[in-house]
Amino acid sequence: MREVTTLATLPTLRARSLGSKAALILRDEPLSYEALEHRSNQAAHALLREGIRPGERVAILGKESLDALVLLFGAAKAHAVYVGLNWRLAPEELAYILEDSGARMLFVDEESAALVPRVFEKMRGPLPVVRVGAKQDAPGTFSHWCAGAADTPLTETYDAEDVVVQLYTSGTTGRPKGVQLPHRSLLAIAHELEAHGERWIGWTEASVSLLFVPTFHIGGLWWLVRGLALGCTQVVLRGFEPATILASIPRYRVTHTCMVPAMMQILLSEPGLQQTDLSSLEAIVYGGAPMSTALLEKGQRLLGCGFAQIYGMTETGNCAVCLRPEDHLGALPSRLRAAGRPFPGVKVRILDEQGQEVAPGAIGQICLHSPARMAGYWRQPEETRKTLVDGWVMTGDAGYVDAEGFVYICDRVKDMIISAGENIYPAEIENVIRSHPEVADVAVIGVPDELWGEAVKALVVKQPGSHLRAGDILRHTRGALAEFKVPKSVEFTGPLPRNASGKLLKAVLREPYWKGRERRVN
Ligand code: ATP
Ligand code: MG
Repeated sequence: MREVTTLATLPTLRARSLGSKAALILRDEPLSYEALEHRSNQAAHALLREGIRPGERVAILGKESLDALVLLFGAAKAHAVYVGLNWRLAPEELAYILEDSGARMLFVDEESAALVPRVFEKMRGPLPVVRVGAKQDAPGTFSHWCAGAADTPLTETYDAEDVVVQLYTSGTTGRPKGVQLPHRSLLAIAHELEAHGERWIGWTEASVSLLFVPTFHIGGLWWLVRGLALGCTQVVLRGFEPATILASIPRYRVTHTCMVPAMMQILLSEPGLQQTDLSSLEAIVYGGAPMSTALLEKGQRLLGCGFAQIYGMTETGNCAVCLRPEDHLGALPSRLRAAGRPFPGVKVRILDEQGQEVAPGAIGQICLHSPARMAGYWRQPEETRKTLVDGWVMTGDAGYVDAEGFVYICDRVKDMIISAGENIYPAEIENVIRSHPEVADVAVIGVPDELWGEAVKALVVKQPGSHLRAGDILRHTRGALAEFKVPKSVEFTGPLPRNASGKLLKAVLREPYWKGRERRVN
C-alpha cells in the first residue's frame, strides 16, 4: 500500500503484482488490473494528443462506466484534473460547475447526453464531447477516441501534492464548492491505517467490494481508490438499484460495501431482502448524513454483518472519524449515536464562536486536522481562508467529544435552531420522530417566531395508510426530549427535498417561512 502514492502510479504498481485479477466488474464485464493500466495509459496519451496541459480540467457526466473509471486514472497520468459531475443536477447547475471549473472537455454517457445541448446553451460556448459507456465502438465514443493512442507507460514523474481531482460539495447549504484534492487526499488515510497496523473493517486484497455510491462524491471516490490500492475486486453498479444490490451480494460473494443512511432505509424495506443470502457480507460502512439509531439497529438486525460509520466531508478527503465495528458491538444506545474516533493521523478540536477550544463535552464547531485535507477551494480564496486555517478544516458542523475521545455530531451549525436563547439541534429531534413506526421521513427546521426568535417545526411524511395526527408526534417526542425541543408545530407533507446524496435540503424547506426576513448567519 505504502508504495502507492498517486493515482497515476496505482494501476502500474497493481498491474505488476496482480496482473489478470479483476480490478473492476461493471455490468458483468470485468476489467483486470493489467487492462486498467493499459487502458488508462491510452486515455492519458489521448488526452495529451488532444492538447490537454498539466492542471487543466476534464469533466465527466454520467453514471459509472468502465470508460469513466479508466478516464480517472488516465487523467491522473496526463497530469489533468478530473471533475466528476452529478448527473442529477439541472442544466443550469451543470453549466455553473462546468464554467466554474474551466473544464476543457466533457465526457458524457448515453443517458446524460440528451441534456448536454441544454447545458451548453447556458454556457459561453460548447466543449468538445466524448461519449463514455457506449456499447459500440462508433465515432465520438471513448474507445474510438482512444484508438490509435499508445498503451505504453508515460515517462512522467508524479507528485502526491498535485491536484488530481476536483469534486464539488453536495450543495446542501448553498452553491456547490469546487474542492481541489491532491493525490495525497485520496491515499493518506490508507497509509496511516497501514502504518498503525490497523486492518480497518477487515478489508483486504482478498475482499470483494460492492460500490453503488457515486464517484462524483468523495465517499464513492475514496472507496473506489482505497479498494484498488488494496488490490481487491470491486463490483461497481451504475447507481443505487436495490434489486441489483441484493442480486450482486450472493452472486459475487460481496464482503464490503458502503452507503448513505437514505439508501439503507430503502434497502431494508426491499421485498427480496429476507430471501437473499447475505452470509458473505463482513462489513457495511455508512455515513455522509446523520443516521438514526432506530435505522442502524434495524440494519444490524436484518443484515447481520459488521457496521462502521464514517464522518467526514469533501474538504477532508472523506474519512476523518470512524465508529468501528467493535464500537457497535454490545454498545449502549448512546455510543451508537457517536460518529466515532478519529482515524490514525487525524486530530479533532471543538471550537466556540470566538475560535477558542471549549471544555471537554461542550458543544462547538468540529475542526479537523487531517493528512487527507484538501488543497483548497477552486477560485475561492476567501472561502478557503475561512475553511482551512493552519491546516485545520472548519467543518461547519456542531458537535462535541466525550471523555473517551468519541466525536458526536449534533447538526450543521447553520441548521441549529436558537429558540429563547437555547441552542437546539434538529438532528436530535428528527432521530426521535423517525423512531415512530408510522413516520416515513421527517425534517425539523427553525421558523420565525415573534416571541422566541425561532420556533421548532417538524415536517413529517407519514407511512402509507397511516392516520397519524400532530398530537401523536407531540406525545411521542414529549417523553424523549426536553420540553423546549418538542416541536411547536407539526405539518404533514409529501416527499421531502433531498439532494443526490440523500441529504435533506434544509435551506429549501426553510425558505417559504423566512421569505423577506433575515435569518441569523453562523
Ligand atoms: P455543502 O458543503 O455544499 O453544503 P455538504 O456539506 O453536504 O454540501 P459533503 O462534503 O458531501 O457536502 O458532505 C459533508 C457533510 O456531510 C459534513 O459536513 C456533515 O454535515 C455531513 N456528514 C458526513 N458524514 C456524516 C455522519 N457520519 N453523520 C452525520 N453527518 C455527516
Ligand atoms: Mg459542506
